[in-house]
Formats: sequence, structure tokens, C-alpha cells
Amino acid sequence: MFEAIERVPGDAILGLIQAFKDDPNPDKVDLGVGVYRDEDGSTPIMRAVKAAEQRLVDTEATKAYIGSHGDPDYGRHVLETLLGTDSAVLADNRASATQSPGGTGALRLAADFIAAQLPGKSIWLSDPTWPNHKGVFGAAGLDMQSYPYVDADNRLDFDGMLAALKQIPQGDVVLLHACCHNPTGFDLSAEQWQQVLSVVQERELLPLVDFAYQGFGDGLEADAYGVRLLAEHLDEMLITQSCSKNFGIYRERTGCFIAIAKDAEDMADVRSQLAITARENYSNPPAHGSAIVATIFESEELTAMWREELDEMRSRINNLRSDFVKALAPHGLDQRFAHVADQRGMFSFTGLQPEHVEALRDRHSIYMVKSGRANVAGLNRANLDYVCNAIADVVK
Ligand code: PMP
Repeated sequence: MFEAIERVPGDAILGLIQAFKDDPNPDKVDLGVGVYRDEDGSTPIMRAVKAAEQRLVDTEATKAYIGSHGDPDYGRHVLETLLGTDSAVLADNRASATQSPGGTGALRLAADFIAAQLPGKSIWLSDPTWPNHKGVFGAAGLDMQSYPYVDADNRLDFDGMLAALKQIPQGDVVLLHACCHNPTGFDLSAEQWQQVLSVVQERELLPLVDFAYQGFGDGLEADAYGVRLLAEHLDEMLITQSCSKNFGIYRERTGCFIAIAKDAEDMADVRSQLAITARENYSNPPAHGSAIVATIFESEELTAMWREELDEMRSRINNLRSDFVKALAPHGLDQRFAHVADQRGMFSFTGLQPEHVEALRDRHSIYMVKSGRANVAGLNRANLDYVCNAIADVVK
């Protein structure tokens, strides 16, 4: 029966990982893979996470199921971190949190929820967006459309975005990146978020905000600006959240799907449906990651430690962004790449063209995605000049 099954090419990033591994050049640099890296190029376990795990080993008393909505303590902490402890939405009991297997699992819950409960609604994605958005929404059978996000020079095209949002049919779903837009690194300013809010209100759109990098852009509070603005002014919205990056617990699959309804009654209806969606997909979410996060939030000491480490990661990335532009100045390229210092999060649309990306790999063993998206966290003091010299070589 299996003879007729065709082989499909693997994920482009996985191919990149293999090519990097196989490259014997001792100076090779990996700017492809989407995980945080420290100055030594490793993705360490955060100290607060290790300490929480140690406590869990000592205190965890059962491995029984945690229920389709997951750990309520985890859900509460996530809601407060996203929406703020003083959120009126929380005070009015209008937000439901369903713990999910990572941000991807949350997106799948969102997709299934839209497909089942809002039939006929299309979802509008930024062009470009994280490629797996298309994978997940497509797998759930949603109709996907796109709005522009960058112009021909690979810079944020906010006017184009806004004009396209104004044309979206009433009631459709629009996916927005809360911060640290993947893959471009271009985020909206407070003023731009306000304009997006106006259009969403005018067109009566349903925003689905993907929040996978809280704390990686400008800080936990600042990064939540757009989400909180929408939550404050809209009756209904959806949010997907991930702890993969800001707790560094990628493989523990820890995320959350949040639905905000106009009142507590609607919220309870929506929540009852989401329990079924989760149950039909995977029954219960994994518990280890959410237990780590809840343990950290329930300890002042561990929360302070985690915040400090998160600040360190964010500063490292943002310093690398400005150091990168400075290191290109002797080559006369600082203006051309100035946008890299203004972008936020791990990823940067560098503006390098596919032929530059290819030359960087072939001539200098520097690996990044064909679109010119680089993981800035793959840079460090030891390879920065090497990378900048190589860029100067290939763009000339
Ligand atoms: N959304 C975006 C924009 C992402 O970049 C990612 C991770 N790369 C996710 C969601 C999914 O995160 P997770 O690993 O928690 O599934």
C-alpha cells in the first residue's frame, strides 16, 4: 500500500542544519536555526529553570493527567504576564487560557477553533510570516490570505499593510505578530498599533495575535503593548503564546491558547468548546514545562532570577544588532544595514538577496535562510568581524 506514497523535501531549515554540521570549515557560522544562542554559541538551560526543575523533582507527587485546559496556575500566570495584573479583561473574567503543546499547539487550537466555530472565515497572514503558520492553518483546512508586510527593499511596508487590512472582509481573522516579527524583525510602533486597532474596529475583524517572544524585544511589558491595547478596546480576540523562547524550554512544549470574549458567559461557552478541541487533538497537554513556569512565577526569588536572565538575553541580542551595524561601517555598509539595529527579536531580514546568501555559504561557510533572514543570536564577539568582512565581500 505504501508504494504510491511520494517523498517530499524536508524542512529547508533542517537541510541547513545538516549542511552546517557537514561543513569542515572551523570558522563556519550558523545564522539559520531559530533558537537563542549565548556568547559561546550554545542554548543553555536558564538558571531559574534548572532551579525550578530541582524543586519539582523534590516535590512533584503525581504524574496523573492535568486536564484538557492544563494547569490553572500556569494559565493564570500566563494571562497576567500577557495582559497585566491590572487588566480589566481579567477582572471581568473574560479571558480563557488553554495550555497547549508549545506555541505551535496553541496555533493549531486557534485554527481548529476558527474552523469549527467560525466557519467561512478566512485568516489573513503577513507576507512574509513564520512559514509554519501556513502549515498549521492549512492542515486545519482554513482559507488563507495575505497582507503585505515588507516592500520591495525588504523594509516594513506599514502603509501597504494598513491599506490591505482596510480591504479585509468584515469578520475575517487577521494574524498579527505581537513583537519580534518572524522572519523580518520589523515591529509596529505604539502609533502603528493604534492605527491597526482602528481598522480592526472599523472592519470588525477578529485579531489572532501570535505572542512567541515576550521579553525578547524591548521587555516583558513593552512587548505586550499591542496585545494589551487590542484587549483593552475589543470585545473579542484570540492570542497564542509560547514559553519556548522566553523560558528557553523549547522541547518541553509549553504554550497557551487564549480566547477573550465579550463577557464571562460567552467566555464559558468558548472555553467548553476548547476543552473538546484539545481533547480531540492530544487529550491533555504535557505537564513538565508548565510546572517549571508555574514554579518560577510562584517564587519571588526564581521570578527575579528569570527576569534577570531574560534581560541578559534581550540585551545581548540588541547589542549584537548595533555592534553588527558598527562593524559594517569600515566597509561603508552601515547605512545599508542600519535597519538591523532597529529590528527586534532574534530574527533579521537583512536585505541580503538569495545570491548573497548562497555566496556567504559557499565562500565563507556562513549559513542563513535563503530569504536573507539571519538569527542575530548566532553572532558573537569572536565571529562578528568575520561575518561582516564576508558580507562586504559578497555584496560588492
Ligand atoms: N510563532 C512564531 C512566530 C514562532 O516564531 C514560533 C517558533 N519559532 C512559534 C510560533 C512556535 O513556537 P513553539 O516552538 O513554542 O511551538
